[in-house]
Amino acid sequence: MGVTTALEWLGSCSGCEIAILNIGEELIPLITEALDIVHAPVLMDHKYFGQCGEGLTLTIPEAVVGIVTGGVSNHEHLEVLEEMRAKCQVLVALGTCATHGGIPALMNGQDREQSWQEIYQTTTTDPGATVPNIEVPAPLDRVYACDEKVKIDLQLPGCPPNPSHIAEVIVSLLEGRPPVLPGKSVCDSCPTRREGKGAVSSVKRFITNAEFTPGAPIEEMRCLLEQGYLCMGPVTAAGCAKRGAPSCISARVPCRGCFGPVRKDGNQLLDMMNALASNGIDYKSVVDRRSILRFSGAHGLLRPIHKRHSEEE
Ligand code: SF4
Ligand code: SF4
Ligand code: SF4
Repeated sequence: MGVTTALEWLGSCSGCEIAILNIGEELIPLITEALDIVHAPVLMDHKYFGQCGEGLTLTIPEAVVGIVTGGVSNHEHLEVLEEMRAKCQVLVALGTCATHGGIPALMNGQDREQSWQEIYQTTTTDPGATVPNIEVPAPLDRVYACDEKVKIDLQLPGCPPNPSHIAEVIVSLLEGRPPVLPGKSVCDSCPTRREGKGAVSSVKRFITNAEFTPGAPIEEMRCLLEQGYLCMGPVTAAGCAKRGAPSCISARVPCRGCFGPVRKDGNQLLDMMNALASNGIDYKSVVDRRSILRFSGAHGLLRPIHKRHSEEE
């Protein structure tokens, strides 16, 4: 009998679940011998209110390990998360949506009514559509990261997270030791050439390719931030590096911050302003500065503009 494990998804795209599958061959002994998966909506038909809907309360089986993905956007997400916390001895938040709000928390940047209109009435192909208000879970006032609502024992960000780090978390829990995970920033795992101060004083939009020699080793390309691009490597947690370089950098593309802030409880927006200033780049040249929070908009960081202004008055 393996260690009982429950998986759940809240406001998520299921990319984190694909990342679990992408552990590859190492996953086979884990799920056939080491783990006893008692609940996983992505894998098995286990109903919340009893198999025939006979239950009156939402029930998830007890488990030693719980893994939850996605942000907390509505009352159903919150109820499921609280049930996972109540039933799991160790609760892991997996993926940047769960740890920092991620993609669903982009909605925090505007009024909820404005979002509903855009989702159901502006971009719909049905011009007569209305915003549904029956038989759908009521939204929360904003999108939350899991640790804003319940105690989380272990956070593993990434959009999606690195499969080898997911495996390390699972194995470390089985072995009763802390996981060995990268603790530094994307820049710390980046081999690009750095010369000190940047080459330009305004941020360059990434609508033209960075300067590099096709076919030449990544070590010969100058740091993208020093080239003037908004590369969020200095303020983003490491974890995506494969084959010797961070994922996007190896494709000659600036880091967009998808592993969340490098500092615990950090604010990528403020930290990135400092990083730009240290490279001699005027932060005012970033057209939409709030886009820097595109993966970390929970924890009250991303708010509708008028709300932020009224609070500052
Ligand atoms: S962290 Fe990324 S991959 Fe995971 S659920 Fe969120 S959007 Fe999808
Ligand atoms: S800013 Fe970007 S390109 Fe420069 S070292 Fe950091 S991750 Fe690499
Ligand atoms: S380089 Fe940045 S945006 Fe790209 S995968 Fe890594 S953390 Fe995510």
